[in-house]
Amino acid sequence: MVGPRGRLERVRVLGPCRSRNQIELSRTEAIRLGIDAPLRLSGHLDGTPEVTLIGPSGSVRTDGAIVAQRHLHLSPSDAAGLGVAPGQEIDLELDTPRATVLRHVALRLADDAVLEVHLDTDEANAAGLSGDAEGVLQRCPGCAARLRAVHPTAAHCAPTAPGVRNDQT
Ligand SMILES: [Zn+2]
Repeated sequence: MVGPRGRLERVRVLGPCRSRNQIELSRTEAIRLGIDAPLRLSGHLDGTPEVTLIGPSGSVRTDGAIVAQRHLHLSPSDAAGLGVAPGQEIDLELDTPRATVLRHVALRLADDAVLEVHLDTDEANAAGLSGDAEGVLQRCPGCAARLRAVHPTAAHCAPTAPGVRNDQT
């Protein structure tokens, strides 16, 4: 992946294919590339900067570069159990040696969603997260989530309320 200031090597490609290319970067990676990628939810790509993608069969220049807003994937039943609704945000307390509270964690509801928090590497590294572990999602006014440790790109968490527990591995 090449930008005006630099490049990123060995970039992971994720499917399934979408109608538009989406390039999810951390802020650090965007700075390395020399682009001002906006903070967006997945799929909100209008007006996003371009990069050049180089692969075994050639190269393509495409827009779609964003810094993905941190978010919690959950199903409608998860949301009902937690008392949250689409469009709301939650706070995520990270109980790590570099304890951090992440605000404005978006909710991404889908019928087949696996209950997971998605952070980028900047957020995870700043909070001192490592490995892959489970945490506890606590029901409260405004719904604060609490995780003890998470993988930088996929944190698994489980609601505390009986009947809505949904451990994911
Ligand atoms: Zn996600």
